[in-house]
Amino acid sequence: MFDRLGFRWLFDAAADALLLVDAEGRIALSNTAAQELFGWPQRQLDGQSVEALIPQRLRLHHRNLRQAYGRDPHRRAAGQGLELVALNSEGKEFPAEISLTPLQADGQAFTLATVHNISARKQLERDLLEKRREMDALQKVHVAAQTAAVIAHELNQPLLAISSYSKSALLMLEAARPNIERLKQAITGCEVQTRRAGESIRELLGFLNMSECPAEVFDISPEILEMLDTACAEHHLQVDSRPQLEQGLPPVKANRTQVQKILLNLFHNSIEAMEAGQTLNPTLTVHARVLQDEPLVQVSVADNGPGFGPDQIKRVFDPFFTTKSAGIGMGLAISRSLVEANGGHLWLDSGARPGAQFHLTLPISP
Ligand code: ADP
Repeated sequence: MFDRLGFRWLFDAAADALLLVDAEGRIALSNTAAQELFGWPQRQLDGQSVEALIPQRLRLHHRNLRQAYGRDPHRRAAGQGLELVALNSEGKEFPAEISLTPLQADGQAFTLATVHNISARKQLERDLLEKRREMDALQKVHVAAQTAAVIAHELNQPLLAISSYSKSALLMLEAARPNIERLKQAITGCEVQTRRAGESIRELLGFLNMSECPAEVFDISPEILEMLDTACAEHHLQVDSRPQLEQGLPPVKANRTQVQKILLNLFHNSIEAMEAGQTLNPTLTVHARVLQDEPLVQVSVADNGPGFGPDQIKRVFDPFFTTKSAGIGMGLAISRSLVEANGGHLWLDSGARPGAQFHLTLPISP
Protein backbone atom coordinates (compact mmCIF):
# COMPACT_ATOMS: atom_id res chain seq x y z
CA MET A 1 0.00 0.00 0.00
CA PHE A 2 2.98 2.36 0.51
CA ASP A 3 3.92 2.43 -3.13
CA ARG A 4 0.99 4.69 -3.94
CA LEU A 5 1.62 8.41 -4.67
CA GLY A 6 5.38 7.97 -4.78
CA PHE A 7 5.47 7.50 -1.00
CA ARG A 8 8.09 4.80 -1.20
CA TRP A 9 10.38 6.98 -3.29
CA LEU A 10 10.10 9.90 -0.87
CA PHE A 11 10.64 7.61 2.09
CA ASP A 12 13.87 6.23 0.64
CA ALA A 13 15.13 9.67 -0.30
CA ALA A 14 14.99 10.88 3.35
CA ALA A 15 18.43 11.44 4.94
CA ASP A 16 17.22 10.26 8.36
CA ALA A 17 16.76 6.59 9.19
CA LEU A 18 12.98 5.99 9.16
CA LEU A 19 11.00 2.97 10.33
CA LEU A 20 7.25 2.66 9.94
CA VAL A 21 6.04 0.38 12.71
CA ASP A 22 2.57 -1.14 12.89
CA ALA A 23 0.35 -1.53 15.96
CA GLU A 24 1.90 -4.96 16.71
CA GLY A 25 5.41 -3.53 16.76
CA ARG A 26 6.41 -4.94 13.35
CA ILE A 27 8.44 -2.89 10.91
CA ALA A 28 6.09 -2.33 8.02
CA LEU A 29 8.62 -0.31 6.08
CA SER A 30 12.23 0.82 6.46
CA ASN A 31 14.08 3.30 4.27
CA THR A 32 17.59 3.09 2.83
CA ALA A 33 19.13 5.18 5.63
CA ALA A 34 17.60 2.82 8.24
CA GLN A 35 18.93 -0.24 6.41
CA GLU A 36 22.40 1.32 6.38
CA LEU A 37 22.20 2.33 10.03
CA PHE A 38 21.18 -1.11 11.27
CA GLY A 39 23.14 -3.05 8.63
CA TRP A 40 20.15 -5.17 7.52
CA PRO A 41 18.93 -5.46 3.91
CA GLN A 42 15.36 -4.33 3.32
CA ARG A 43 13.96 -7.84 2.99
CA GLN A 44 15.24 -8.72 6.47
CA LEU A 45 14.32 -5.48 8.14
CA ASP A 46 10.78 -5.13 6.80
CA GLY A 47 8.45 -7.50 8.62
CA GLN A 48 10.87 -7.81 11.54
CA SER A 49 9.81 -6.92 15.13
CA VAL A 50 11.32 -3.63 16.30
CA GLU A 51 12.50 -5.55 19.36
CA ALA A 52 15.18 -7.12 17.15
CA LEU A 53 16.84 -3.71 16.96
CA ILE A 54 17.15 -3.46 20.74
CA PRO A 55 19.53 -5.43 23.00
CA GLN A 56 17.72 -8.30 24.75
CA ARG A 57 18.42 -7.02 28.28
CA LEU A 58 16.84 -3.63 27.52
CA ARG A 59 13.74 -4.71 25.60
CA LEU A 60 11.23 -4.43 28.45
CA HIS A 61 12.74 -1.18 29.69
CA HIS A 62 12.69 0.36 26.21
CA ARG A 63 9.10 -0.72 25.61
CA ASN A 64 8.07 1.15 28.78
CA LEU A 65 10.05 4.23 27.69
CA ARG A 66 8.44 4.19 24.23
CA GLN A 67 4.97 3.85 25.70
CA ALA A 68 5.57 6.73 28.15
CA TYR A 69 6.91 8.86 25.29
CA GLY A 70 3.85 7.99 23.15
CA ARG A 71 1.55 9.15 25.97
CA ASP A 72 3.29 12.54 26.23
CA PRO A 73 2.29 14.71 23.23
CA HIS A 74 4.13 17.72 24.71
CA ARG A 75 7.49 15.99 24.43
CA ARG A 76 6.79 15.12 20.83
CA ALA A 77 5.54 18.62 20.05
CA ALA A 78 8.67 20.11 21.63
CA GLY A 79 10.76 17.96 19.29
CA GLN A 80 12.33 16.09 22.20
CA GLY A 81 13.67 12.70 21.20
CA LEU A 82 14.05 9.57 23.24
CA GLU A 83 17.56 8.29 23.93
CA LEU A 84 17.82 4.52 23.63
CA VAL A 85 20.43 1.84 22.98
CA ALA A 86 20.09 0.22 19.55
CA LEU A 87 21.55 -2.97 18.09
CA ASN A 88 22.88 -3.46 14.55
CA SER A 89 23.06 -6.62 12.44
CA GLU A 90 26.54 -7.43 13.84
CA GLY A 91 25.22 -7.38 17.42
CA LYS A 92 26.97 -4.09 18.11
CA GLU A 93 25.21 -1.65 20.41
CA PHE A 94 25.09 2.09 19.72
CA PRO A 95 23.32 5.03 21.36
CA ALA A 96 20.39 6.30 19.31
CA GLU A 97 17.90 9.09 19.58
CA ILE A 98 14.45 8.33 18.22
CA SER A 99 11.37 10.43 17.77
CA LEU A 100 8.01 8.76 17.33
CA THR A 101 5.07 10.16 15.34
CA PRO A 102 1.69 8.38 15.23
CA LEU A 103 0.25 8.01 11.70
CA GLN A 104 -2.91 6.65 10.11
CA ALA A 105 -2.71 4.93 6.72
CA ASP A 106 -5.59 3.06 5.10
CA GLY A 107 -7.42 3.04 8.43
CA GLN A 108 -4.49 1.37 10.22
CA ALA A 109 -2.44 2.90 13.04
CA PHE A 110 1.31 3.19 12.54
CA THR A 111 4.19 4.88 14.30
CA LEU A 112 6.87 6.59 12.28
CA ALA A 113 10.21 6.27 14.10
CA THR A 114 13.05 8.59 13.09
CA VAL A 115 16.37 7.20 14.35
CA HIS A 116 19.71 9.01 14.74
CA ASN A 117 23.00 7.46 15.69
CA ILE A 118 24.25 9.72 18.50
CA SER A 119 27.56 7.93 19.22
CA ALA A 120 29.64 11.02 18.37
CA ARG A 121 27.54 13.28 20.57
CA LYS A 122 27.68 10.81 23.47
CA GLN A 123 31.45 10.52 23.12
CA LEU A 124 31.70 14.32 23.21
CA GLU A 125 29.53 14.43 26.34
CA ARG A 126 31.76 11.81 28.01
CA ASP A 127 34.89 13.77 27.05
CA LEU A 128 33.38 16.99 28.45
CA LEU A 129 32.41 15.25 31.67
CA GLU A 130 35.91 13.84 32.01
CA LYS A 131 37.41 17.30 31.41
CA ARG A 132 35.04 18.85 33.98
CA ARG A 133 36.07 16.21 36.54
CA GLU A 134 39.74 16.97 35.88
CA MET A 135 39.05 20.72 36.25
CA ASP A 136 37.17 20.13 39.50
CA ALA A 137 40.08 18.10 40.87
CA LEU A 138 42.56 20.85 39.85
CA GLN A 139 40.33 23.50 41.37
CA LYS A 140 40.27 21.62 44.69
CA VAL A 141 44.07 21.38 44.73
CA HIS A 142 44.27 25.10 43.92
CA VAL A 143 41.84 26.04 46.71
CA ALA A 144 43.71 23.81 49.17
CA ALA A 145 47.04 25.40 48.17
CA GLN A 146 45.59 28.90 48.53
CA THR A 147 44.10 28.11 51.93
CA ALA A 148 47.42 26.68 53.10
CA ALA A 149 49.19 29.80 51.80
CA VAL A 150 46.75 32.10 53.59
CA ILE A 151 47.28 30.23 56.88
CA ALA A 152 51.04 30.39 56.35
CA HIS A 153 50.77 34.12 55.66
CA GLU A 154 48.80 34.65 58.87
CA LEU A 155 51.26 32.67 60.98
CA ASN A 156 54.50 33.77 59.37
CA GLN A 157 54.98 37.05 61.22
CA PRO A 158 53.99 35.90 64.74
CA LEU A 159 56.12 32.76 64.34
CA LEU A 160 59.14 34.81 63.27
CA ALA A 161 58.64 37.09 66.27
CA ILE A 162 58.21 34.15 68.68
CA SER A 163 61.38 32.60 67.29
CA SER A 164 63.45 35.76 67.82
CA TYR A 165 62.00 36.36 71.34
CA SER A 166 62.80 32.73 72.28
CA LYS A 167 66.34 33.00 70.88
CA SER A 168 67.06 36.13 72.89
CA ALA A 169 65.54 34.53 76.03
CA LEU A 170 67.85 31.51 75.60
CA LEU A 171 70.87 33.80 75.13
CA MET A 172 69.94 35.72 78.27
CA LEU A 173 69.67 32.47 80.23
CA GLU A 174 73.24 31.59 79.23
CA ALA A 175 74.52 34.80 80.85
CA ALA A 176 76.15 34.47 84.29
CA ARG A 177 73.48 36.69 85.82
CA PRO A 178 70.40 36.71 83.62
CA ASN A 179 68.52 39.99 83.49
CA ILE A 180 65.16 38.87 84.86
CA GLU A 181 63.33 41.98 83.64
CA ARG A 182 64.46 41.54 80.04
CA LEU A 183 63.80 37.83 80.24
CA LYS A 184 60.27 38.62 81.35
CA GLN A 185 59.85 40.99 78.38
CA ALA A 186 60.98 38.32 75.93
CA ILE A 187 58.60 35.74 77.38
CA THR A 188 55.76 38.28 77.39
CA GLY A 189 56.58 38.98 73.73
CA CYS A 190 56.21 35.24 73.00
CA GLU A 191 52.89 35.19 74.80
CA VAL A 192 51.54 38.25 72.94
CA GLN A 193 52.60 36.89 69.56
CA THR A 194 51.07 33.48 70.31
CA ARG A 195 47.78 35.21 71.11
CA ARG A 196 48.06 37.24 67.91
CA ALA A 197 48.57 34.05 65.87
CA GLY A 198 45.50 32.50 67.51
CA GLU A 199 43.43 35.63 66.78
CA SER A 200 44.58 35.65 63.15
CA ILE A 201 43.46 32.07 62.67
CA ARG A 202 40.12 32.81 64.31
CA GLU A 203 39.69 35.85 62.03
CA LEU A 204 40.60 33.78 59.02
CA LEU A 205 38.03 31.14 59.92
CA GLY A 206 35.59 33.98 60.48
CA PHE A 207 36.36 35.32 57.01
CA LEU A 208 35.71 31.91 55.48
CA ASN A 209 32.38 31.93 57.30
CA MET A 210 31.20 35.52 56.94
CA SER A 211 28.26 35.01 59.28
CA GLU A 212 30.79 35.02 62.11
CA CYS A 213 32.16 38.40 60.94
CA PRO A 214 29.20 40.69 61.36
CA ALA A 215 29.30 44.23 60.07
CA GLU A 216 29.18 47.00 62.66
CA VAL A 217 28.83 50.75 62.47
CA PHE A 218 32.00 52.61 63.50
CA ASP A 219 34.15 55.68 62.81
CA ILE A 220 36.99 54.91 60.46
CA SER A 221 39.26 57.82 61.57
CA PRO A 222 40.36 56.40 64.96
CA GLU A 223 40.99 53.02 63.30
CA ILE A 224 43.23 54.64 60.67
CA LEU A 225 45.19 56.52 63.33
CA GLU A 226 45.61 53.47 65.54
CA MET A 227 46.72 51.18 62.70
CA LEU A 228 49.11 53.83 61.43
CA ASP A 229 50.74 54.03 64.87
CA THR A 230 50.86 50.22 65.19
CA ALA A 231 52.47 49.80 61.76
CA CYS A 232 55.05 52.56 62.30
CA ALA A 233 55.96 51.18 65.74
CA GLU A 234 56.71 47.73 64.28
CA HIS A 235 59.44 48.98 61.90
CA HIS A 236 62.87 50.50 62.48
CA LEU A 237 62.39 52.98 59.64
CA GLN A 238 61.51 56.48 60.83
CA VAL A 239 58.44 57.25 58.75
CA ASP A 240 56.81 60.64 58.48
CA SER A 241 53.17 59.60 58.80
CA ARG A 242 50.62 62.14 57.62
CA PRO A 243 46.98 61.36 58.27
CA GLN A 244 44.72 63.80 56.39
CA LEU A 245 41.26 62.76 57.44
CA GLU A 246 38.19 64.78 56.50
CA GLN A 247 36.46 66.30 59.54
CA GLY A 248 33.11 64.74 60.54
CA LEU A 249 33.37 61.65 58.36
CA PRO A 250 30.13 59.63 58.62
CA PRO A 251 30.44 56.18 60.25
CA VAL A 252 31.03 53.20 57.95
CA LYS A 253 29.32 49.82 58.12
CA ALA A 254 31.85 47.00 57.89
CA ASN A 255 33.64 44.40 59.96
CA ARG A 256 36.01 46.39 62.16
CA THR A 257 38.64 43.64 62.62
CA GLN A 258 38.85 43.06 58.89
CA VAL A 259 39.16 46.79 58.17
CA GLN A 260 42.01 47.01 60.70
CA LYS A 261 43.70 44.07 59.02
CA ILE A 262 43.38 45.64 55.55
CA LEU A 263 44.76 49.02 56.71
CA LEU A 264 47.61 47.36 58.59
CA ASN A 265 48.58 45.35 55.53
CA LEU A 266 48.64 48.46 53.30
CA PHE A 267 50.69 50.42 55.85
CA HIS A 268 53.16 47.56 56.39
CA ASN A 269 53.59 47.16 52.62
CA SER A 270 54.32 50.86 52.17
CA ILE A 271 56.82 50.99 55.02
CA GLU A 272 58.56 47.79 53.89
CA ALA A 273 58.76 49.08 50.28
CA MET A 274 60.29 52.39 51.45
CA GLU A 275 62.67 50.49 53.74
CA ALA A 276 63.78 48.16 50.93
CA GLY A 277 64.07 51.07 48.48
CA GLN A 278 66.09 53.15 50.97
CA THR A 279 63.70 56.02 50.32
CA LEU A 280 64.84 59.49 51.37
CA ASN A 281 62.38 61.17 53.77
CA PRO A 282 60.00 58.19 53.79
CA THR A 283 56.47 59.55 54.01
CA LEU A 284 53.18 57.74 54.43
CA THR A 285 50.08 59.82 53.69
CA VAL A 286 46.56 58.61 54.42
CA HIS A 287 43.58 60.54 53.11
CA ALA A 288 39.98 59.75 54.06
CA ARG A 289 36.99 61.50 52.47
CA VAL A 290 33.37 60.97 51.49
CA LEU A 291 32.72 60.38 47.80
CA GLN A 292 30.43 62.90 46.10
CA ASP A 293 28.31 60.53 44.04
CA GLU A 294 28.17 57.38 46.13
CA PRO A 295 27.50 56.59 49.81
CA LEU A 296 31.11 55.51 50.29
CA VAL A 297 34.11 56.63 52.30
CA GLN A 298 37.36 56.46 50.35
CA VAL A 299 40.66 55.86 52.10
CA SER A 300 43.83 56.47 50.06
CA VAL A 301 47.24 55.27 51.22
CA ALA A 302 50.24 56.84 49.47
CA ASP A 303 53.97 56.48 50.00
CA ASN A 304 57.02 57.91 48.25
CA GLY A 305 58.81 54.56 47.96
CA PRO A 306 59.93 52.75 44.79
CA GLY A 307 56.34 52.17 43.55
CA PHE A 308 55.58 49.57 40.87
CA GLY A 309 57.07 48.71 37.48
CA PRO A 310 54.59 48.26 34.58
CA ASP A 311 54.79 44.43 34.89
CA GLN A 312 54.15 44.51 38.62
CA ILE A 313 51.05 46.69 38.28
CA LYS A 314 49.23 43.86 36.51
CA ARG A 315 50.16 41.23 39.07
CA VAL A 316 50.00 43.05 42.36
CA PHE A 317 46.67 41.48 43.45
CA ASP A 318 47.56 38.00 42.15
CA PRO A 319 47.90 35.42 44.90
CA PHE A 320 51.58 34.56 45.54
CA PHE A 321 52.92 37.68 43.84
CA THR A 322 55.69 38.93 46.10
CA THR A 323 59.07 40.65 45.79
CA LYS A 324 59.99 40.09 49.44
CA SER A 325 62.39 37.32 50.41
CA ALA A 326 60.13 36.28 53.31
CA GLY A 327 56.87 37.34 51.62
CA ILE A 328 54.08 35.04 50.56
CA GLY A 329 52.19 37.39 48.29
CA MET A 330 48.73 36.79 49.76
CA GLY A 331 48.31 40.06 51.68
CA LEU A 332 46.82 42.17 48.88
CA ALA A 333 44.80 39.27 47.46
CA ILE A 334 43.23 38.68 50.87
CA SER A 335 42.77 42.41 51.49
CA ARG A 336 40.91 42.81 48.22
CA SER A 337 38.60 39.85 49.05
CA LEU A 338 37.97 41.31 52.49
CA VAL A 339 37.17 44.80 51.16
CA GLU A 340 34.79 43.33 48.59
CA ALA A 341 33.14 41.11 51.23
CA ASN A 342 32.48 44.35 53.12
CA GLY A 343 30.84 46.01 50.12
CA GLY A 344 33.78 48.12 48.91
CA HIS A 345 36.66 48.05 46.42
CA LEU A 346 40.44 48.06 46.68
CA TRP A 347 42.62 49.15 43.78
CA LEU A 348 46.04 50.42 42.91
CA ASP A 349 46.36 53.89 41.40
CA SER A 350 48.59 53.04 38.46
CA GLY A 351 49.24 56.73 37.67
CA ALA A 352 50.54 57.68 41.12
CA ARG A 353 54.09 59.11 41.13
CA PRO A 354 56.37 58.91 42.97
CA GLY A 355 55.81 55.80 45.05
CA ALA A 356 52.62 53.80 45.32
CA GLN A 357 49.04 54.74 46.07
CA PHE A 358 46.20 52.38 46.96
CA HIS A 359 42.54 53.37 47.34
CA LEU A 360 39.80 51.53 49.16
CA THR A 361 36.14 52.30 49.63
CA LEU A 362 33.75 51.25 52.38
CA PRO A 363 29.99 51.76 52.58
CA ILE A 364 28.66 54.54 54.78
CA SER A 365 26.17 53.31 57.35
CA PRO A 366 22.66 53.98 55.97
P1 ADP B 1 53.63 40.12 50.58
O1 ADP B 1 53.64 41.30 51.54
O2 ADP B 1 53.63 38.80 51.27
O3 ADP B 1 54.70 40.22 49.52
P2 ADP B 1 51.30 41.39 49.38
O4 ADP B 1 50.21 40.77 48.56
O5 ADP B 1 50.86 42.21 50.55
O6 ADP B 1 52.23 40.18 49.82
O7 ADP B 1 52.18 42.29 48.44
C1 ADP B 1 52.58 41.80 47.19
C2 ADP B 1 53.75 42.59 46.62
O8 ADP B 1 53.29 43.87 46.19
C3 ADP B 1 54.86 42.88 47.59
O9 ADP B 1 55.78 41.82 47.66
C4 ADP B 1 55.50 44.12 46.97
O10 ADP B 1 56.38 43.74 45.95
C5 ADP B 1 54.34 44.81 46.28
N1 ADP B 1 53.86 45.97 47.04
C6 ADP B 1 52.81 46.03 47.87
N2 ADP B 1 52.66 47.28 48.36
C7 ADP B 1 53.64 48.01 47.83
C8 ADP B 1 54.04 49.42 47.92
N3 ADP B 1 53.36 50.27 48.69
N4 ADP B 1 55.10 49.82 47.19
C9 ADP B 1 55.78 48.97 46.39
N5 ADP B 1 55.47 47.66 46.27
C10 ADP B 1 54.42 47.20 46.97
